[in-house]
Amino acid sequence: MKIWLLLLLLSSAVWAQPRNYVTRAEWGSQPQALGDDLLHTPERITLHHSGVLWKAGDDARKKIKGLQNWGQREKNWPDLPYHFLIDPQGTIFEGRELKYRPESNTDYDLTGVVNLHLWGNFDEQTVTREQLQATVELLAWLRDQFQLETLQAHCQAAPGQTSCPGKDLMRYLDAGLLRHWVEQCRQEEWPGVKELPAPPGKP
Ligand SMILES: [Zn+2]
Repeated sequence: MKIWLLLLLLSSAVWAQPRNYVTRAEWGSQPQALGDDLLHTPERITLHHSGVLWKAGDDARKKIKGLQNWGQREKNWPDLPYHFLIDPQGTIFEGRELKYRPESNTDYDLTGVVNLHLWGNFDEQTVTREQLQATVELLAWLRDQFQLETLQAHCQAAPGQTSCPGKDLMRYLDAGLLRHWVEQCRQEEWPGVKELPAPPGKP
């Protein structure tokens, strides 16, 4: 009986917190007060890109602070519109606390939504291997820690309003690769993600 229990525990080992994870305190987040009216229960993940080209030399720490300041100043958002933000080097930054619903420039129900954002414009450029790897590790962790399994693209949640998260990232979602890799990476032997061949004419 004891051995059976031990085997059960081992086989359902919880996926560890992703590597390259930067907490709010570590990057110096300065949210304004978030009201109780924003409290929600996280239920599903929505995938975004920034829609702005990531250029050589761009710095995620500067960008995340800039986004937080801009949202507070221009949009009346007390904190970042996203819960997690991933840069092309595969660093995951904590954004808004999960217990608060996010923000959007488009019109759809945000209650229960966990906003996951990747820096870049994937209508114009391709997702990096490191960014994909970090995305899969984060999704696996969210699944094990918070039972969050449902993954949708922003353009699916708000049809006709946006092309977000861009053509290249949609290839991985449409082919079921992200879901497949999340399953795989929870096994012990996992070679990691593999980028799809770049479409003709794309770097
Ligand atoms: Zn979006």
